[in-house]
Amino acid sequence: MTSEETRQLLIRIREYVDTTVLPLERDFLNRPFRELLPGMQEQRAKVRALGLWAPQLPAAWGGLGLPLPEFAHVAEELGRTPLGHYLFNCQAPDAGNMEVLMECGTPEQQARWLGPLARGEVRSCFAMTEPEFAGSNPVWMNTRARRDGADYVIDGHKWFTSSADGAAFVIVMAVTNPDAPKPHQRASQIIVPADTPGYRIVRNLPVMGEAGADYFSHSEVVFENCRVPQAHRLGGEGEGFVIAQRRLGPGRIHHCMRWIGICERAFELMCRRAAGRELAPGRPLGSRQLVQEWIADSRAEINAARLLVLDAAGKIERGGAKAAREEISIIKFHVANVLGRVLDRAIQAHGALGMTDDLVLAWWLRHERAARIYDGPDEVQKAVVARMILKRYGMEDTPDH
Ligand SMILES: Cc1cc2nc3c(=O)[nH]c(=O)nc-3n(C[C@H](O)[C@H](O)[C@H](O)COP(=O)(O)OP(=O)(O)OC[C@H]3O[C@@H](n4cnc5c(N)ncnc54)[C@H](O)[C@@H]3O)c2cc1C
Repeated sequence: MTSEETRQLLIRIREYVDTTVLPLERDFLNRPFRELLPGMQEQRAKVRALGLWAPQLPAAWGGLGLPLPEFAHVAEELGRTPLGHYLFNCQAPDAGNMEVLMECGTPEQQARWLGPLARGEVRSCFAMTEPEFAGSNPVWMNTRARRDGADYVIDGHKWFTSSADGAAFVIVMAVTNPDAPKPHQRASQIIVPADTPGYRIVRNLPVMGEAGADYFSHSEVVFENCRVPQAHRLGGEGEGFVIAQRRLGPGRIHHCMRWIGICERAFELMCRRAAGRELAPGRPLGSRQLVQEWIADSRAEINAARLLVLDAAGKIERGGAKAAREEISIIKFHVANVLGRVLDRAIQAHGALGMTDDLVLAWWLRHERAARIYDGPDEVQKAVVARMILKRYGMEDTPDH
């Protein structure tokens, strides 16, 4: 259930998205994002002036202070367009970085990095995955941060650092305690300003035919003899993995509700097409049972997915991410797959038009296939869920890695 206040907020957001953001999509789909940046900054200022800025952030940081289950509905509304989360300053990876800075940052770190992020003056990124090591095993990595006086000197190679292009700083996961007995106590999260000597972007990775730019990029980055003060470490030494786990719970609610927003938009487009496209005079596409099945299945799958995510959000809100571990893994793989099916049906319903960038569907297909991979691939999530269940039936837990 949403509060009356949130319902009113959702109406205002829907109106803004429909009248102002959706008309920007054609340009977004057909021009390099960098060219659109000045216009995007104007839109962000408008969102702030309307009092809709950063709905997930507490009021003390300039946001609306929505609790997670209420923000979930906002995330869905904004998910109806690829620009929504970005224009409202609740986009990944900044939202996760802001959360971590709020929870683990020192007052100095918060003033220097959280404040500008919350105000939308800068962007950030998060570098954990490495090309040479399996990202599905989050405790296995090669990047090292060794102490040298009051500094860390970081060496390593990362990729798929989303939004690194143009980011003011990167939060890097690096091994600081290689000899810690438990693998998940070996790494720390360290803030590296983007202008630090030794840090550089090698390239924006070409993903599904697009190298992307600025916020919409995924970069390969290197750290070579990259020196930062130890005061840039978030939390305690060796706590990097624990901090990463903490950010994943709310982060998955954000992603999953955004995906449900995408599903709803794809569903709207599919239904309009089914009702309006005639296969022959007086014979709309939607008169075919096969197409009706796409519509009925999609409706049922989206409704069910939303309930699962709201249930997980409620559990996180009441008991923290740890208490909702099973639910968080369930929604991660389940909703990512609902998204894939609904998008695919919507594209099929549009025929050749569905393959073009005249509609937003193909963009989403290119960009959201990754939903089944990032933040833990399907298979890893399913293994977590199954092992938790089997444990209740007496099976001994087997280590992940
Ligand atoms: C668009 C996009 C954005 C990303 N953004 C970021 C980012 O901002 N920062 C960051 O650090 N990383 C990011 N990543 C990286 C992402 O988190 C990793 O790709 C992910 O963790 C998987 O790691 P990997 O690619 O090394 O695959 P691998 O670990 O090599 O796994 C390959 C495949 O093996 C299968 N597999 C893995 N484990 C198991 C298992 N236990 N059982 C059965 N099958 C299994 C899965 O199908 C998996 O897809 C991003 C990735 C993408 C695609």
